[in-house]
Amino acid sequence: MLLKILLVIAVAVIIYFVFFKKKPLKNSDKSDVSDMVECSKCGVYTQIEDAIISSNKYYCSKECVEKR
Ligand SMILES: [Zn+2]
Repeated sequence: MLLKILLVIAVAVIIYFVFFKKKPLKNSDKSDVSDMVECSKCGVYTQIEDAIISSNKYYCSKECVEKR
């Protein structure tokens, strides 16, 4: 009985550490995604540095700004 309880605790600790270690990786992925913005015209995701901002909306190119 005691061995089974210890085994369950060991598994729980392993699962906890697996999830704990995965979290920083997920956060780094999210920071990459947050640098992308969706074009208000065509819905294409563009790097925020390359995006054109017009009337508080992001556009992927000048063509989309003109066609809005
Ligand atoms: Zn666009």
